[in-house]
Amino acid sequence: MSKLTAVAYQECINPNCRAQFDCAQSIFKCPKCGELLDIKYNWDKIAVPKKLSDFAARWSSRNKPLDYSGVWRFREMINFCDDKYKVTIGEGQTVLQQNCGLAEQLGMKPDCLFLQYEGLNPSGSFKDNGMTAAFSHAKMVGAKSSACASTGNTSASVALYAAMCGLKCVVFIGSGRIAFGKLSQAMDYGAHTIQIQGDFDDCMKQVQDVCTELGLYLLNSLNPFRLEGQKTIMYRIIEQMGWEIPDWIIVPGGNLGNSSAFGKAFAELKELGLIKKVPRMAIINAAGANTLTDMVNNKKLTWNGGNVNQAVIDAYYADLTARKYSPHTCASAIEISRPVNLKKCLRALEVTNGIVRAVDDAKICDAKALVGKYGFGCEPASAASVAGLELLLAEGVIGKNERVACVLTGHTLKDPNVTVNYHKEKQGKWSNPPVECPNDLAKIIELIK
Ligand SMILES: [Zn+2]
Repeated sequence: MSKLTAVAYQECINPNCRAQFDCAQSIFKCPKCGELLDIKYNWDKIAVPKKLSDFAARWSSRNKPLDYSGVWRFREMINFCDDKYKVTIGEGQTVLQQNCGLAEQLGMKPDCLFLQYEGLNPSGSFKDNGMTAAFSHAKMVGAKSSACASTGNTSASVALYAAMCGLKCVVFIGSGRIAFGKLSQAMDYGAHTIQIQGDFDDCMKQVQDVCTELGLYLLNSLNPFRLEGQKTIMYRIIEQMGWEIPDWIIVPGGNLGNSSAFGKAFAELKELGLIKKVPRMAIINAAGANTLTDMVNNKKLTWNGGNVNQAVIDAYYADLTARKYSPHTCASAIEISRPVNLKKCLRALEVTNGIVRAVDDAKICDAKALVGKYGFGCEPASAASVAGLELLLAEGVIGKNERVACVLTGHTLKDPNVTVNYHKEKQGKWSNPPVECPNDLAKIIELIK
């Protein structure tokens, strides 16, 4: 079967190349020009529902694992492999919480703020949405071993799915740059964990070379099949809003896999006539890892029909190298200065009329404490979305009556050190330190009254 007539195929995002490849190949980058690959579909060969609400029927057959999965219950939209290869551990049972208290705190109309809590996934972060798809592809191509570079959440998710599938697993992490909760998961799920003396960008380079050398299956967000699974976060937001579209999606920006996936999700839904409007997307960097913000807002880098100005990117990265620059933020999950999915993200910004901002660590930690105070909790990188919302409300870019969904990417217990330090060392305005007290009933009662 020629690639063009297959149900799904891989295609290079470079408009001057557009080479196509079978989904049975694990190549991850275009062998002809080195660009990123997309998964494309011949939609006329797929039984896509006539309207998004038709997916709701699957709630009545939740005893079937694929219908229970918050990813695979939308499987017509990620139709690249047979059901027999699909791997699921119940990912995507996540909650869109309308948080009136936090909305009011931020000066918004109370019913306008929604928090999409991806920390409820089996490994505690949004990564499981992507891994269920990528490991299904790994099984489809008969992979025996898997590898990833990680700031933490990816390693936890890869290790969990690899253990479940019986695949060997190697994770590369930067020395001293990983939150304890995440490192503990990789070790517990049996991954071969290699700490490289360097940062995430160093790990990313090494893992690509190692995968090529040893034929390991690569599970970074470079892997286009992962991004297919991550599209479903947007379907679930729409689903939980009663099949309505919010005005804004706000997402933290690290390696830019989520923002790329979200843009693709909306472009496809629009193309299929399943949505009428596309929400605007705001991507929030940490100030200490603000490559995207700098490139988009200052260097004016755009998608430009796929003809991205490579010279701007090359000069930017050459400067980072010359300065021996290493990104630094307490939001370790987005501590990345050479985002792998940069070009796909630029495309997503065009699709969503999106914008980019950066927020500093103090703002991130205050926002994180606020999310906790109003009854949810998240890891620091997740709170960048809420800190970004605060900034965009102050700028008047987002109106207080607009409906906003902030994606909280990881569980609050992923990085307890940041939380404990914030409160115990009174680092911010929402610090809530424990009170020391003698072992004496009267004194205890006095303190509580
Ligand atoms: Zn190409």
